[in-house]
Amino acid sequence: KLAGEWTQDPKTKKWSHSAVEFNKFNPERPLVLDTVLDAIGKTPLVKLQHVPKNHGVKCNVYVKCEYLNAGGSTKDRIAMRMVDIAEKTGKPGKLVPGVTLIEPTSGNTGIGLSLVSAVRGYKCIITMPKKMSKEKSLAMASLGSTIIRTPNEAAFDSPHSHIGVALRLKSEIKDSVVLDQYCNPGNPMAHYEQTAEEILHDMGDKKIDMLVLTAGTGGTVTGISRKIHERVPTAKVVGVDPHGSVLAGAHDSDVDFYEVEGIGYDFLPGTLDTNVVDYWAKSHDKESFLMARELIRTEGILCGGSSGCAVHYALQECKELNLPEDANVVILLPDGIRNYITKFLDDDWMNERHFLEV
Ligand code: PMP
Repeated sequence: KLAGEWTQDPKTKKWSHSAVEFNKFNPERPLVLDTVLDAIGKTPLVKLQHVPKNHGVKCNVYVKCEYLNAGGSTKDRIAMRMVDIAEKTGKPGKLVPGVTLIEPTSGNTGIGLSLVSAVRGYKCIITMPKKMSKEKSLAMASLGSTIIRTPNEAAFDSPHSHIGVALRLKSEIKDSVVLDQYCNPGNPMAHYEQTAEEILHDMGDKKIDMLVLTAGTGGTVTGISRKIHERVPTAKVVGVDPHGSVLAGAHDSDVDFYEVEGIGYDFLPGTLDTNVVDYWAKSHDKESFLMARELIRTEGILCGGSSGCAVHYALQECKELNLPEDANVVILLPDGIRNYITKFLDDDWMNERHFLEV
């Protein structure tokens, strides 16, 4: 129901929210910010200098460094936007200081909401599968949130999953709201109205040929692709989905464990519009982590595992399509190394999983 509030004008084909008007995109940033929340968005787009060539790719590859958001990931944008919509409209629940926000997350939305809650005076309870890193959990705890871990193997519709536990807590806790990133229109909208506009602005007159995005809730891929398809109809969108997830389609319905955090699911979230994706690539853990390490070492891009995943499979696609020297590819890097210091950055952790074996 909520997702339906984000509607498309049949004539102009533009998407908007029926109840809320947000400021038009403004690329300027004031010299002094009122709060750290104003340091969400306007992240840098960086041209990769070495990694594409080292992998035999000729075209220009640009990465959008979302780890440079205030809370360290692209999900800060949606946390901010979902809270703004709730504050303005009272949907999906009324927010006044002291209300408890409860959110199921793979961590980054939780960090974003914890950050917004710390600044705006909300209480925050985060439910998160055990698989996700201790670094994420400690970051949220330091912002004052309570974190409840749920079993990895609980299916999304089980009462024991991060989603099931969040819904139970909502029924038990007075004055609590689940913003629900899996169907909240603010999730894709934040990327449609902001992230995509930044990419288009920063690319200037360089035409985008291909955009490569990972998907979890699908908010990033849905929001960005809808805007890019409107403005650059020839651009192709590649979605990247891990083996073990079902987002790319039922032919891979064997739900299985994988290590890369924040991407893939065992269900199709309401915020994912699969029509916006031109092709899907299926990803593996080892290649994803090795590429994240390579981006860090070779380009100084301090990215996380899903970023490595997006770049590895983007380069594969560039090679397969034999994209020429003047083609431009944009890849979004969702988060940074802070979340994974004791995981893929640690040789012991990598060796235990045989990810460093040649
Ligand atoms: N990478 C990471 C590290 C994430 O935390 C997320 C969010 N779950 C994504 C990628 C995918 O973003 P989205 O939810 O917008 O599909």
